[in-house]
Amino acid sequence: MTVRGFIDLLLNDPLRNDVAEIVSNVRRHNHTPRPSGQYWEKTKRDVFLRDNGKCVYCGEENGVEVDHVIPFSLGGNNESDNLATSCLRCNRQKGSKTIDEWLGK
Ligand SMILES: [Zn+2]
Repeated sequence: MTVRGFIDLLLNDPLRNDVAEIVSNVRRHNHTPRPSGQYWEKTKRDVFLRDNGKCVYCGEENGVEVDHVIPFSLGGNNESDNLATSCLRCNRQKGSKTIDEWLGK
């Protein structure tokens, strides 16, 4: 079963109103407007090129992805100047913190 199917199943169960509320809260706080696929792919490519394909935080070259420097949840956007190449490890550690919060400043 897909996650979506599972959520729908829970939502349709009247005994699971608590779950429905949690899910709707998650959806409300997760309303990040993702840019369209093509635009997002190009933006990511531009960011990787600009950062030489390396994690800007530790220099790792493998398994890099794009990090929101100012997290979406804090009002950051999808523009390339708010994006940085980051390895999985740094991106997971940083999470939805600002760089200062992540580094404990
Ligand atoms: Zn890193």
